[in-house]
Amino acid sequence: MSTTNAYLSVRGIDVDVVYKDIKHLHIGVYPPLGRVRVAAPMRLDDDQVRLAVIQRLSWIKHQRDKLRAAERQSEREMVTGESHYIWGIRRRLTVIERPGRAHVEIDGARLLLYTPPGTSADKRREYLDHWYREQLRQVIPDLISKWERELGVNVPQWTIRRMKTKWGSCNRETRHLWFNVELAKKHPDGLEYITVHEMMHYFERHHDERFTALMDRHLPDWRHRRGQLNEAPLGHESWD
Ligand SMILES: [Zn+2]
Repeated sequence: MSTTNAYLSVRGIDVDVVYKDIKHLHIGVYPPLGRVRVAAPMRLDDDQVRLAVIQRLSWIKHQRDKLRAAERQSEREMVTGESHYIWGIRRRLTVIERPGRAHVEIDGARLLLYTPPGTSADKRREYLDHWYREQLRQVIPDLISKWERELGVNVPQWTIRRMKTKWGSCNRETRHLWFNVELAKKHPDGLEYITVHEMMHYFERHHDERFTALMDRHLPDWRHRRGQLNEAPLGHESWD
């Protein structure tokens, strides 16, 4: 089966398109960020796909709203027994109350959170968020150095922040990179893919064929890594 890929930006929404030997166009909205992916028949072109996405824009927005609502609903209480992911591995949270500074550590399959007695769920969440950022800060510098050498470029500045719909972003003028804190929950391959993807924007602004060719050359399994980041679809819809 032959396939080609395209990235489109449709009314501010990034859309990944795969052209395949299929009959019907299919759109999926994927957690956790509401990534939009289209599988389209070979007979369609980018403009026709763009039109199909525009026609389904309210459905896509509805799926994204549902996804965010589900995320809010599943917000962790931060109590012992909950599952939390770190670098793609599920760990069981154990909250240990004790006086002194809050502290997080991994102990086998457990994630230990030491907190002062009486700490609120929000505060415990904040401690863990802080720890996730630390995990990222420990590995991002080496990743960036590796890819600076590989690509022959220089990353002057980078920041970790919480983003609603993107894993990362890049300002081409200042060359500043941003990483979503949620990347610390995913397999490290995902973080490397985002690092390379954002650095590749130094060379090419758009997700066009040139961009894809650069990714293929430097990180041949990038599609697999991207797939891992975006998991199973939340919503599906098919039509002619
Ligand atoms: Zn991009």
